[in-house]
Amino acid sequence: MTLTLHGVGVSRGIAIGHVHVIERDQLEIPEYRVDDDAVEREVERFQRAVALARQQLRAVRAHIPPATSQDIAAFIDTHLLMLDDAALISEPARLIGELRCNAEWALKLQRDALVAVFDEMNDSYLRTRRDDVDHVVHRIWRALLKQTPLHHEAPDGRLRDYVVLADDLTPADTVLMQHQGVVAFVTEYGGPTSHTAILARSLGMPAIVGLQHARRYVRQEDLVVIDGGRGVLVVDPDPGTLEHYRERSAAETRHVATLDRLREAPAQTLDGHLVALHANIELPGDAAAALRVGATGVGLYRTEYMFMNRSQTPDEEEQYEAYVGVLRALEGAPVTIRTIDLGADKQVDGGRRDGPVAANPALGLRAVRLCLHEPTLFRPQLRAILRASACGPVRMMIPMLSSLSEVHQVIDLVAATRAELDGRGQAYDPAMPIGGMIEVPAAALCADAFARHLDFLSIGTNDLIQYTIAIDRVNEEVSYLYDPLNPGVLRLVRMVIAAGELAAVPVAMCGEMAGDPLYVRLLLALGLREFSVHPTALLEVKRIIRSSRLDALGERRDALLACATGGEVAQILAAAGRAA
Ligand code: PEP
Ligand code: MG
Repeated sequence: MTLTLHGVGVSRGIAIGHVHVIERDQLEIPEYRVDDDAVEREVERFQRAVALARQQLRAVRAHIPPATSQDIAAFIDTHLLMLDDAALISEPARLIGELRCNAEWALKLQRDALVAVFDEMNDSYLRTRRDDVDHVVHRIWRALLKQTPLHHEAPDGRLRDYVVLADDLTPADTVLMQHQGVVAFVTEYGGPTSHTAILARSLGMPAIVGLQHARRYVRQEDLVVIDGGRGVLVVDPDPGTLEHYRERSAAETRHVATLDRLREAPAQTLDGHLVALHANIELPGDAAAALRVGATGVGLYRTEYMFMNRSQTPDEEEQYEAYVGVLRALEGAPVTIRTIDLGADKQVDGGRRDGPVAANPALGLRAVRLCLHEPTLFRPQLRAILRASACGPVRMMIPMLSSLSEVHQVIDLVAATRAELDGRGQAYDPAMPIGGMIEVPAAALCADAFARHLDFLSIGTNDLIQYTIAIDRVNEEVSYLYDPLNPGVLRLVRMVIAAGELAAVPVAMCGEMAGDPLYVRLLLALGLREFSVHPTALLEVKRIIRSSRLDALGERRDALLACATGGEVAQILAAAGRAA
């Protein structure tokens, strides 16, 4: 009988295949006493299991296809680092001696203690890190229990064309499964910011997460359809349903092929206006993906990702090499380097401060505030960015500005850094443009003042929406309120664009809203002429731009801005879509 289940669709695409269920969480953890004279041997058994886990992860890392996003290697490196962490490795060894218990049980006690700490944190990013602990612990348990590697770890291609269903997946699982030819994933846990979700998007595999209790309803070898865009899993589809999804899948493949042909085409509207279409990147390795889809530059390089998953902050030289690497990869196209945006949901080892956790981290010491507060973090980056500007067209962008005094402080620091480089005899571009992100309502309301002191502005809607509507962007309980069409948001966006027009200062948008096909025409109507989007969204945005007329859209601007609700805005957009 056909059954339809709903989860959170985190990576678009349709896949049809038989299910391989992974039962990772059904390990039986034994508890027994270890005699005094056997303690040393038990500790050694534990250490051998850790060494085996390390060896397995290194083998996985070596298998990562070179074209894959660097995020994936970074996730596996996190797990490798955890295998060196005293909390996970030394503490169980100590517990074996103290409690005279077996290694599996000592590891369980320590795992439970660590997980309890994470569970108390009301922060979805940190809760994701709790999953990392579990992934690593399970790997050590399997080594201790001498379980054969999971089915998907044996590189024999048995999982080719399968849909994998699991409670949760580790980054290492994900890479291996792609290697095995798995076509899609479904997990019972995890949200859109979980590692599995990020990886699935990066690998271009359809995926659904958070499909609770799925393993109660789906059995090994069941035929399923997964619609990763809508978060729908159809179990045992009838012939009509199967045909429907086959057609949609074929249409999607044709659509992607058509989009590929747009790679070289200009992002030009039907009435002849050119729109700048740049890419957002997180790591230097992503620059290749930007170029592959024909981005004419990088509109947002989130440099803070370089500071994640490591205990040492990258030094000036490492940062300089990374920036120059991106410039070279972009072959002369401009690269907008955003200064470190750590803090809030991006609390990472390289930039973590000691002290109590803030009650409202999104409103706390993050982004430019943190940089101005900690010159030892900021100055090396300013030197690296300025030095890179001597090698190609660099634009520097400051995140989360809320007052003009922050702009002045950064400009003063840049001047001091230039003098420092002069002293060292190192080159930089004295005309490197400095821009700012408008993502705080106060900055949007005063965009005219910011435009007078900056060379360009870029609207960060991910944060602008969270601060305007007062909803935490990483809290799944209020995500239903996260509405880019909220009239308050639209009026602020128009205000920023208008301020740019008046001051003849370019205004871009680099938040997720710019890359959502639903909003491209709306943004064109509001006057946006520069989009910066994820490489996977770029060609679809270009297609929409190329099928739009600015004159017709511009006529709808006043009506759009007069709307009292997001629903009214959506209605006007639907009518505009029909007219286009
Ligand atoms: C934004 O806030 O829209 C943005 C682009 O920055 P981030 O998502 O990195 O906070
Ligand atoms: Mg932001």
